[in-house]
Amino acid sequence: MPDEICAHAIRVRGVVQGVGFRPFVFRLARANALAGWVLNEEGGVEIHVEGKQAAMEGFLRDLKASAPPAAVITTIEVIPADPLGMHEFTIRASECRGRPAARISPDLPVCSECLSELFDPSNERYLYPYVNCTACGPRYSILLSLPYDRGNTTMQSWAMDTRCSAQYHDPGDRRFHAQPVACADCGPHYRLRAGTETTGIDSVAITRAAQLLTEGKIVAVKGLGGFHLACNATDPTAVNALRERKFRKEKPFALMVRDLDVARGLAKFSRDDESLLVSLARPIVLVPGRKQLDGVAPETDELGIMLPYTPLHYLLFASGAPAALVMTSANRSSEPIAYRDDDAFERLDGIADAFLVGERPIARRVDDSVARAGAVGTMILRRARGYAPGAVAGLRTGRPILAAGADLKNTITLVVDGEAIVSQHIGDLDHYEAFRAFEETIRDLLKMYDLDPTKVMVAHDSHPQYASTGFACGLGERRISVQHHRAHIASVLAEQGEWDRPVLGVAFDGTGYGDDGTIWGGECFAGSLRGGFERVAHLRSAALAGGDAGARDPVLASAGFLSQVGTLPNLCSAPFNFPPRYLRAVQLVEKGVRTFQTTSVGRLFDTVAALLGFTRPMSYEGQAAVWLEHLARQSRQVEALPLPLAGCELDFRGMLESVVQDRVRGREPAAIARAFHRGLAEGLACAAADLCSRFRLNTVVLSGGVFQNELLLEDLRDLMDGSGFEVWTNHAVPPNDGGISLGQAAIASVSHHT
Ligand code: ZN
Ligand code: FE
Repeated sequence: MPDEICAHAIRVRGVVQGVGFRPFVFRLARANALAGWVLNEEGGVEIHVEGKQAAMEGFLRDLKASAPPAAVITTIEVIPADPLGMHEFTIRASECRGRPAARISPDLPVCSECLSELFDPSNERYLYPYVNCTACGPRYSILLSLPYDRGNTTMQSWAMDTRCSAQYHDPGDRRFHAQPVACADCGPHYRLRAGTETTGIDSVAITRAAQLLTEGKIVAVKGLGGFHLACNATDPTAVNALRERKFRKEKPFALMVRDLDVARGLAKFSRDDESLLVSLARPIVLVPGRKQLDGVAPETDELGIMLPYTPLHYLLFASGAPAALVMTSANRSSEPIAYRDDDAFERLDGIADAFLVGERPIARRVDDSVARAGAVGTMILRRARGYAPGAVAGLRTGRPILAAGADLKNTITLVVDGEAIVSQHIGDLDHYEAFRAFEETIRDLLKMYDLDPTKVMVAHDSHPQYASTGFACGLGERRISVQHHRAHIASVLAEQGEWDRPVLGVAFDGTGYGDDGTIWGGECFAGSLRGGFERVAHLRSAALAGGDAGARDPVLASAGFLSQVGTLPNLCSAPFNFPPRYLRAVQLVEKGVRTFQTTSVGRLFDTVAALLGFTRPMSYEGQAAVWLEHLARQSRQVEALPLPLAGCELDFRGMLESVVQDRVRGREPAAIARAFHRGLAEGLACAAADLCSRFRLNTVVLSGGVFQNELLLEDLRDLMDGSGFEVWTNHAVPPNDGGISLGQAAIASVSHHT
């Protein structure tokens, strides 16, 4: 009976707080002439709604179908209730009883409505750099504690004036309960600081900063999750000055461009690239460049490009800043990004010519994310702003888990009420500052979710010397040690929610501690998340000389691999021109001193890169592999070099022999690099087919830093398409060590200790 009065109690879970969900429910209920209330509670949003049956159906349909764009609904529970005879619909105050389990929304880019207000001279927020509403603006980066209310954000010290307050309290307004709401009369401001002088406010300061950028100066700009260093990307003098002052030799710089048209002029965007570029996370998107910008991304053909995402960025471009800016994390070399004003002034002194500083404090550092619309789907290479701290997987466990990740590209994962929440990218923990950031992030997230560190189960890498391992061992009583490459494979299965499916897991990687105490990195496993993974094949092992230096210097890394190649020409003469330190590494390998064994595919890449001309130490992690991929892309498809699976060993000897001989014969290095990539892809595809039939498997899982190589993935996709196997890789967390903490958490969630 459509006219009958009925009532429902509804619970909505997911990212539904701080994204305009309650006003949306309010408007929806009123539009359908329903009565009741909506409120935020710890688990999400609770709704009581009553009215005519027909109206109720429309309400329930639209609740999911037309939710605000930033909301991520995981479940809607609808239970019949007794009508209470209510006459209107209201938004009730938050209830706060126990632990806050509601998910925290990632930061959001400024929305189109706020943007039009920003540039509308008749609007009260005309040119105001902190304009925002319930559909946009900062979230995670201003949050001090849950629940998400103004008093728990870094906006707590600004009192709203009457106009802002009226909007904040009006359920029909776009700014109803928009926690950071502010205007130029009552809110924070931006100022420009050069030397000890602070001049200008908001648009005056921004215009001056735009002018400095045009003049070739370097300006530190306070953003959402930290400071950026900005300069004109088309001014090589400025770009090189930035490299010198920041001690960043060759690692590519990211760009922020004025709009999509500028982006399209600089690089080739597929439709998928563009949708990633304009997505709510607004990541840095890696795309093939159209032209080389001097000094921006040396020796790769990719550019990292992002669009403006805060009102300030839009104002900067509108005030005449160069249309393409280098926008790089404000720090020296690989320190964590600066996010506190005083710290930024101190650390960036001598790097930045001026500071464009906003008054609103940043609660925690959140770097820009890096992503690619890859050959096998979206790949996140650095997961931070716009994604963190979103949940990436549901784990079937009620127990809280803290996974400490790996020491490189560290992230941590917290499992709360069965949801895996992955932190923002933290960095390489061998830097003292990054290690402190790691400790801070653990404390921060445990506090946010009100978890007792002594009661959580702690998962960590099995490497005894990892700083993250050491820290984890000082935490809880219940600990589980997880082998690095099994964690890589588990991260993919956790994303897929596959607990029992038996798979062939292929982890190709730089460095990870193996079961036998050697350094692994070319591993094949058979098994499932719940049943465990047995190592069934691996790259043939080689000696690695020089410890950590060996991992940073392809010439050193090559000594052990090449010692297994039959006859070698003198590599210290042309065309190889290895430096004399190669001979010292050869001696270490021959005597077996200060060497360890490795099965790392990353080091195999380094060896081939050295043979093809990369004979200097790397200035950033993975550089030789990036260089080799770039080189290979300059050649058309060629025949593959051999990489046979002999027993349980992928044998690289024939492959390296061919590289050496081809080079001596004068073959183009680009063609050799291409043949190496193809060989790795074919070798892997054949080995996978072989192992899958041996162990009766039909799913292949790929993870580990090597799979950031897009050319390798393209080749693998071509080879394995139509092979009858399902091929899975990471999409929500990085295939590099940024995904390790999720894999650790997944393995901990099914371990017998739980
Ligand atoms: Zn907005
Ligand atoms: Fe790894």
